[in-house]
Amino acid sequence: MQDRIAAAKAALAHLDIEEKDSAIKAASRDFFWYSPVLKDRLDHVTADFVVRPRNEAEVIEILKACYAHDVPVTTRGSGTGNYGQAMPLEGGCVMHLRHMDKVREIQPGRVICEPGVLLKDVDAACKDHSGQELRMFSSTWATATIGGFIAGGSGGVGSCTWGSLRDLGNIIRLRVVTMEAEPRVVEFRGEEIARVSHAYGTNGIITEVEMPLAPAYDWVEMFVAFDNFMEAVHYTEQLAKEDGILIKLANIFEAPVAHDYFQRVKPHVDPGTNLVGLMVAPQSMDGFQTFTSRRPEATVIYRSDDNNWERGPGPVFEYGWNHTTLRALKVDPSVTYLQVRFGYPNHIELIEQMRDALSPEVLHHLEALRENGKVIFAGLSLVKFTTEERLNEIVKIHEDAGAMVFNPHRYTLEEGGRQSVDDRQLAFKKESDPKGLLNPGKMITWDDPDFSFDDMYAYPKLQPLTEA
Ligand code: FAD
Repeated sequence: MQDRIAAAKAALAHLDIEEKDSAIKAASRDFFWYSPVLKDRLDHVTADFVVRPRNEAEVIEILKACYAHDVPVTTRGSGTGNYGQAMPLEGGCVMHLRHMDKVREIQPGRVICEPGVLLKDVDAACKDHSGQELRMFSSTWATATIGGFIAGGSGGVGSCTWGSLRDLGNIIRLRVVTMEAEPRVVEFRGEEIARVSHAYGTNGIITEVEMPLAPAYDWVEMFVAFDNFMEAVHYTEQLAKEDGILIKLANIFEAPVAHDYFQRVKPHVDPGTNLVGLMVAPQSMDGFQTFTSRRPEATVIYRSDDNNWERGPGPVFEYGWNHTTLRALKVDPSVTYLQVRFGYPNHIELIEQMRDALSPEVLHHLEALRENGKVIFAGLSLVKFTTEERLNEIVKIHEDAGAMVFNPHRYTLEEGGRQSVDDRQLAFKKESDPKGLLNPGKMITWDDPDFSFDDMYAYPKLQPLTEA
């Protein structure tokens, strides 16, 4: 392997290559450590070198050289993925897209940009240009790239109104480079986008994206307190269903999450407070206030446009999605989490059933999500971690009850997804990456089509611990 690495590096010596071991190690890690299971398995993983292309032509050059020398390539946006998506399990090359950060074109309802631009910078450019913004973003808006969001994420702030990234219309076009002797550039729209979106860069490298936009607003961010958890759930569901009230975020934190883990919120709540976080469009505030005044169980304790807190909480969306886990981990390192889908029509019963069965070992954190025209909930539940066996049991309790778990303690696409082959992604990988060099170890069905999913997949070429 070392000869092949040296040959690939020599071929790419004129590009921006990182040589420092500490920087290579840092560029080989993402937020995999959120999971105690992944931390155990992947902590030692590191690339052999890091290269930072400046444009698509350099991406092609890198893929061509690495193909010629059989060197694996794992692409990196900002490395904020929490499933170990950007970890180079077999070493080789990490291709870091930080220089590919141009916003190329903005039109009414759409933006065209390079993959390495940060979500916040896409929004800033669109707002400046014509008062527009992305329909949805990961709560890592300030640090994550748009390419990484599309290849490794699923949805987030905005998904309560617009659905998930995988829903038709939420990505307009992707331009992709293949990993072949002569890399090809292909463009996907509509149905074909699913071949490469959320594929962890295992079957092509996205070099340009075209995304839909919505009007930008100065969203009013709020916290609403409830004594009763299920009342908070009903309030949030009904609000998300109000057709005339425009929201960008609606989430629920079971007590005592807000009190125990949200440091700046703590002085304003009790241990028994269940908290709802919201982003509401300013023109919807009259409707919102009428809606809330009809529900005396709800108390608005914070409004970003009328704030009397001595220390403001910062952006409310940075309490939601996977930021909840981050805040909990900072206070209590033994906390971990699950990603659950509480689907229509039994979502409310399932939420209540899981709470009866598992709280306080598992505390609900729910995000309102639009799916097929209905409001459902994504759960990013906080789990008090004891052992891997117990964590697996908790997953099974959810699955047996009918709640789908996207297991964040697994590093493969299938185990972190719907536990089944995505035929479109696999078929495209066969054409686009015939040697299996792109982000190896992340697509089980490429390595082992007969895998049973009974136990966690162990990638046979995962770097051995002794090499760390
Ligand atoms: P990376 O982590 O660098 O990459 C993600 C995956 O995409 C990797 O497999 C990588 O190889 C691949 N990739 C990157 N760029 C390309 C490319 N150009 N072509 C092909 N493959 C590529 N996720 C959500 O969906 N919603 C959330 O709300 C959310 N909140 C989060 C909150 C926290 C605190 C944390 C730590 C994570 C959260 N995540 C969330 C996960 C992650 O932050 C997002 O998915 C993020 O958008 C990933 O972007 P990135 O630039 O960091 O990608």
